[in-house]
Amino acid sequence: MQFMRQAILAVADNRHVSGFFQANSMARGLVSRFVAGDTLDEAMTASRSIDAEGMAVTLDLLGENVDTEQQARNATGAYVEILNRMKAEGMSPNISIKLTMLGLDFGDDVAHDAIVPILEAAREVDGFIRIDMEGSDYTERTMHLFEALHDLYPEQVGIVIQSYLRRSERDVQRCIERKARVRLVKGAYAEPPSVAFQERSKIDENFVRLMELLLDNGAFPALATHDPALIRSARGYVGRMRIPLDSFEFQMLYGVRRDEQQRLIDAGFGMRVYVPFGTEWYPYFTRRIAERPANALFVLRQLKGG
Ligand SMILES: Cc1cc2nc3c(=O)[nH]c(=O)nc-3n(C[C@H](O)[C@H](O)[C@H](O)COP(=O)(O)OP(=O)(O)OC[C@H]3O[C@@H](n4cnc5c(N)ncnc54)[C@H](O)[C@@H]3O)c2cc1C
Repeated sequence: MQFMRQAILAVADNRHVSGFFQANSMARGLVSRFVAGDTLDEAMTASRSIDAEGMAVTLDLLGENVDTEQQARNATGAYVEILNRMKAEGMSPNISIKLTMLGLDFGDDVAHDAIVPILEAAREVDGFIRIDMEGSDYTERTMHLFEALHDLYPEQVGIVIQSYLRRSERDVQRCIERKARVRLVKGAYAEPPSVAFQERSKIDENFVRLMELLLDNGAFPALATHDPALIRSARGYVGRMRIPLDSFEFQMLYGVRRDEQQRLIDAGFGMRVYVPFGTEWYPYFTRRIAERPANALFVLRQLKGG
C-alpha cells in the first residue's frame, strides 16, 4: 500500500494524468466528492449546509507553487474576499492558506508581504488564518515565517504540525511556548526516511504523543484526523484528564467520514470541516486519492482502461 501511495504522489504534477481527470466524467465525480466546487459561491453553499449541521468551516482556495508573483498577489485579493464574504454571511471567517500559493518560491519576503494584507483583513473581521504545512523542503521556512507573523498577529494566525516528521516534537514545543494554535495532522506528502517516520505505527505513536502535549499545554489545538483509533485515543485522554470539550476541536476534510463528523458533534465535541474549492484542485485531489486504497484502486483501473 505504501508503494501505491508513493506512486500516486509521484504523478501529482503529471499533466497527462491531470488531463485525464478533467476529461473523464466518472473521475470528475470523484473530484467533486473532495472539492466543494470551482467558485466561492459553490463553496459558500457547501459551507452553509455544514454550518447548519452545527459544524464550523475553514475555507481553502486551492492552489500551490504559483509561477509568478502576480499570481501570489491575486491569491491575496481572493483570500481577503473570502474572509469578507464569510463575515457578510454570518459565519466566523476562517481560512487555510499555503505559503507557496502566496509566493514562497520567490522568497520569504514575497510570501510575507502577500500574507500581511490577509492578516490585516482577518483582524478587521475577527477572523483566523491557518497556515497549512507543505512538503519538508518548506518546513523550517514556514515555521520561521509563521513565528514572525504570530508576533504581529497572535490572535489571527495558527500553524499545522505533521506527526510523520521527526522534528515535530520540537516544533510543537516552540508553538506551546508562544501559545500559538496548532492543527495536528499525520502529514500528506511523500517524505524520505531521513526526515520522516515511514512506519504507520511510528507516525501514529508520534501523533498520540504530540496530541497529549497539545491537549495538556496547547492553545485550542485542532486534532485533524479521520483515523478511528486516534479519535478513540483522543476521546479517552480527554475523558481521563477531564479536559474541557471547548478547549480543542476535531477537524476533518470535506467529503471524508461525514458519519464520524456527525457522531462527534452529537457527542458534544467541536468539529471544523476543511472545505477546499477552486479550479486548481489536482495536487490536493491526488493527495486524497493516495490516502485511501479504494480510491487509489479506482483511479488506477480507470487510468489502465482509459
Ligand atoms: C483538516 C485537515 C487539514 C489538513 N492539513 C494538512 C496540512 O496542512 N498539511 C499536511 O501535510 N496534511 C494535512 N492534512 C492531511 C493529513 O496530513 C493526512 O494526510 C490525512 O488527514 C489522512 O490521514 P488520517 O489522519 O485521516 O489517517 P489515515 O490513516 O490516512 O486514514 C484513517 C482512515 O480515515 C479514512 N480516510 C482518510 N483519508 C481518506 C480519504 N482521502 N478518503 C476517504 N477516506 C479517508 C479512511 O477510513 C482511513 O482508513 C490535513 C487533514 C485534515 C483532516
